[in-house]
Amino acid sequence: MKFWRRREGTETTGSLEDDADGLPSGESGEDALVEASESGPAPQAAEERHRWFGRLRAGMARSSARLTQGINTIFNRRRLDDEALLELEELLISSDMGIGVAGEVAETLRKTRFNQEVSPEEVRTALADQVIRLVEPVMKPLRLDVTKKPFVILVIGVNGSGKTTTIAKLAKQYREDGHKVVLAAGDTFRAAAVEQLQIWGERTGCPVVVRPEGSDAAGLAYDAMIEARAADSDILLIDTAGRLHNKANLMAELQKIVRVLKKVDPLAPHAVLLVLDATTGQNAHAQAEIFREMVGVTGIVMTKLDGTARGGVLVSLAEKYGIPIHAIGVGETVDDLRPFEARAYARSLVGLDP
Ligand code: GDP
Ligand code: MG
Repeated sequence: MKFWRRREGTETTGSLEDDADGLPSGESGEDALVEASESGPAPQAAEERHRWFGRLRAGMARSSARLTQGINTIFNRRRLDDEALLELEELLISSDMGIGVAGEVAETLRKTRFNQEVSPEEVRTALADQVIRLVEPVMKPLRLDVTKKPFVILVIGVNGSGKTTTIAKLAKQYREDGHKVVLAAGDTFRAAAVEQLQIWGERTGCPVVVRPEGSDAAGLAYDAMIEARAADSDILLIDTAGRLHNKANLMAELQKIVRVLKKVDPLAPHAVLLVLDATTGQNAHAQAEIFREMVGVTGIVMTKLDGTARGGVLVSLAEKYGIPIHAIGVGETVDDLRPFEARAYARSLVGLDP
């Protein structure tokens, strides 16, 4: 299949011989991903937050188990000496937090507690505090600008990172907030990917703009923008392909999408979301670098923080790139995406209550 072939005109999907992938069943949920409105929290907000923190902690159990066990072993009735600090540093590096961060944490402990006996609990608390400090600067919710109609969100990332699922999660929350949302099935390379988004569109009540398999994604994005505008839609979420092994093609395609969007609105896309899979650990760094170079990235959504012991990678990403982290995913259902909160994340990471 040649990637650049353009088939004009039809509204239907191409052949659907593959099964749609990644389609867990949805549940209902109340919270919105975007910031709470000025008028104050929803009535069930506290209970809902509590439930979310529970999910977050449970989701991050593998990451926190690794850190907790490591810290328990190092600091079990032991003074904070050079050797303990070195072991701690190694543990943090092996937990994907990054060399710089590991060094900083160790240094802070050295300054404040050297030669004293510290409990594993104290070390975990100190670590959480340090992580909060490091990730707080990137804790930035995705802000919608309602004066942009539609507000165009381009979603990029490698195959399997969770783009389509994240679009579904966002679509559901925006719909619940009363926005009119259009989805564009820009991963035209695989029929199954198009079908997957169509199913999500049905579930979330959003029209999905599709073209046959192999169509030009930029042409589709352009048409979707025109359609979204004509329908007076508030938000357009554009899915994309992520075949990183064909880097030059992918770059050309993403850049072309951006170019054609700008023909309709010079400020579009208004957000470029990079979806990163936490289970890939340090690979997430390479991806951040590549996609930033390709089209620029305005914010990150980190998926699959459940199911991995590598949840610390968010810390090193935050420190190294300073790209806003909008949201995190801790599961496959449409309710498993929430705004990134530094404190809840950091404390869950070390197994403390958020
Ligand atoms: P895409 O290729 O980037 O569009 O990725 P998909 O959205 O199709 O997701 C790939 C797989 O990851 C699917 O099976 C999703 O259900 C799963 N997935 C996405 N986000 C999460 C998450 O936050 N946690 C878990 N456990 N799985 C996720
Ligand atoms: Mg996809």
